[in-house]
Amino acid sequence: MSNGDRIDGMSRESWLARAGGAHDAQTGAVLPPLQPATTYGRDRDYRPISDAIYIRDDLPLSKDAERVIAALEGAADAMLFASGMAAANALLMALSPGTLVIAQSRLYFGVRARLQQLEAQGRIGLQWFDCEDLATLKAALRPGRATLVWGETPANPTWELLDIAAAAGIAHSSGAQLVIDSTVATPLLTRPLELGADIVLHSATKFLNGHSDVLAGALAFRERDALCDAVHVERVAAGAVLGAFETWLLVRGMRTLDVRLQRCCASAQIIAAALEHEPKVRRVRYPGLPSHPQHALARQQMQGGYGALLSFEVTDGDAAALRVAGGLELIIRATSLGGVESLIEHRATVEGAQSRLPPGLLRLSVGLENVDDLLSDLRGALSRL
Ligand code: PLP
Repeated sequence: MSNGDRIDGMSRESWLARAGGAHDAQTGAVLPPLQPATTYGRDRDYRPISDAIYIRDDLPLSKDAERVIAALEGAADAMLFASGMAAANALLMALSPGTLVIAQSRLYFGVRARLQQLEAQGRIGLQWFDCEDLATLKAALRPGRATLVWGETPANPTWELLDIAAAAGIAHSSGAQLVIDSTVATPLLTRPLELGADIVLHSATKFLNGHSDVLAGALAFRERDALCDAVHVERVAAGAVLGAFETWLLVRGMRTLDVRLQRCCASAQIIAAALEHEPKVRRVRYPGLPSHPQHALARQQMQGGYGALLSFEVTDGDAAALRVAGGLELIIRATSLGGVESLIEHRATVEGAQSRLPPGLLRLSVGLENVDDLLSDLRGALSRL
């Protein structure tokens, strides 16, 4: 059992260092074995030799990885998927047809696009709410109608926060369930289920794996309820499961989550504070800064750091932002986040014409490099504007 700081009677750090099993019982190897088989044999009486039959139904190693995620989140059950979007999609497809989804208007744009597609196809109803004004969530609820409230905190890439406990209270008062995309916070900084959320979503591609070499997603459920069962059926039927090697890499990656995140959060805090003093930077967005409009909520809801992601707006708009990105030597220009290497991204370019972001906004995913090296890279690029 887990209470966040202690899992199975161990400190979280010790437990995580052995995530997926301290060693292979058969060989004594200090890592879980990687078994790539897609199918598993039966005995002469046609009984399965182990619990495993076919890996689209259940991969034994996935169960170990899922137990790690469930323990970190304090969940009754967790499921892995082939990507964060596959996890989001499985949840949406498992809803009964016509369910109303009330989604935070500040949201990862891939999820927003999928919600809009499903609404256009008539599979779901869709309403938006403002995570900084929960009266808008109250107003969108339709008591008596099956409803899922979709939150993401901190919200990529502008880092608004959703007050999970308050949103859960409002959702539950009208019989709705609350899912939180906690990709950016990770289970180490925020535990949405303890705050009242029903489901947590992760793009495990990001911090959980942490090495930019696995595409994966996860859902964690507070209870093994009807929706949890329906998602399991959906995963088996649609087949968006995680392969054996990716699962193995993910377990390997989660073993270092704690130490990676501590370093990344500490560096992000230093960089965010320093960028606030840069003359060519108009605004820095980071929940750990006192200037963040919801800093008080961040202090209450996030423990042990405010995340490894920040955004800053370069004065003079998108051309200047692209020049800053182009002038970096150490930080890599690439999409995605949560890896050991620092990445910078001009989100408006990636999101295209429909982007609603300030054109000068650059998103920085802070990795494990020396913080002084990162800062001098950023300062150098800004000074050459
Ligand atoms: N949720 C958030 C907050 C994300 O940032 C992303 C991807 O960037 C996703 C979900 C989708 O995850 P994936 O790329 O693993 O499908």
